[in-house]
Amino acid sequence: MKAVTWHGKRDVRVDTVPDPTIEQPTDAIVRVSSTAICGSDLHLYELFGPFMNPGDILGHEPMGIVEAVGAEVTHIQPGDRVVIPFNISCGHCFMCKEQLFSQCETTQVHEHGTGASLFGYTKLYGQVPGGQAELLRVPQAQFGPIKVPHGSPDERFLYLSDVLPTAWQAVEYADIPPGGTVAVLGLGPVGQMSARVAQHRGARVFGIDLVRERLEMASRHGIEPIDCTATDDLSAVLRDRTEGRGPDSVIDAVGMEAHGSPVAATAQRMVGMLPDAIAAKFMEKAGLDRLTALHQAIEIVRRGGTISISGVYGGMVDPMPMLQMFDKGITLRMGQANVKRWIDDLLPLVSDDTDPLGVADLATHRLPLTDAPKAYEMFQKKSDGAIKIILEP
Ligand SMILES: [Zn+2]
Ligand SMILES: [Zn+2]
Repeated sequence: MKAVTWHGKRDVRVDTVPDPTIEQPTDAIVRVSSTAICGSDLHLYELFGPFMNPGDILGHEPMGIVEAVGAEVTHIQPGDRVVIPFNISCGHCFMCKEQLFSQCETTQVHEHGTGASLFGYTKLYGQVPGGQAELLRVPQAQFGPIKVPHGSPDERFLYLSDVLPTAWQAVEYADIPPGGTVAVLGLGPVGQMSARVAQHRGARVFGIDLVRERLEMASRHGIEPIDCTATDDLSAVLRDRTEGRGPDSVIDAVGMEAHGSPVAATAQRMVGMLPDAIAAKFMEKAGLDRLTALHQAIEIVRRGGTISISGVYGGMVDPMPMLQMFDKGITLRMGQANVKRWIDDLLPLVSDDTDPLGVADLATHRLPLTDAPKAYEMFQKKSDGAIKIILEP
């Protein structure tokens, strides 16, 4: 089969590799019909060489048709249409019973002290072959795959793999009071969807970014866009619109859709993912290094408010403004999405033909799987208005 493989910094290829097979009675094989590129795939593309081997198959946002199942897989069968959550969880351990599926004790990677294994994501997360391929072996398939109806386009359901549950959890963790306000920092795919989910649930939403296409997309969905390069004082702009207090909650989705790494000392280098002119401007004005985004969230949230982090944070040395956090009485929540926990909330929304979350308006590019090298480059440079790219095997 054909698969998108990692070969080094900014070097992904489409290789022919052996077809996966059922190895455990809890496995399934899925023929992939759509598979998205995630912001966190760019971290592999740019930064994670030491934790990758040449030939590793990338991707953790796939869906498709079940081709085969092991003996212990009973809730799906060949021919079913399924979405595959990015975290691999068993459904029966202590953590899974607590619905903390991103911490599954069956698939935790003890060697590196990390949480549940992920598809297509480095030795830190189990080095499980990923879903940017024609076929995918799904471990723990007795629990993970989400069965969806046949008929409507893949995009209706594809984002259940990561973007939507990550956004939903970001909003849950933001703890926005009824009728309250939230600022979403960063309007990549997770920021877009976090903003729409918050609005769907009754909040007034400010969306903050510096890329024109992203601000335009947000305003198409009723989000109040704020171009952070157009102001020297984001806090003041937000206080003006919130009776002088600042938003009740802030969702930090900068650099986002990302699956954290405990060793990524990458904050400043993330700026390297933007086109130079934009990066320079951002550094000048608002600063896009990850820590700056968090500091900004702490600055803008109202006293007693909540910050929900769905961006990547890594390293042990990040200094935190503890005095300000304590003085303002801020609550901080974070963590990787526990995908299946939110599916009962999300499935009715994506199944609704009125498309209340606007899932049909997120992908900017659909390309054949064989164009993956071009797609990664385009996504990395954010060229051609790229916000979300879907590959079709
Ligand atoms: Zn992702
Ligand atoms: Zn588990």
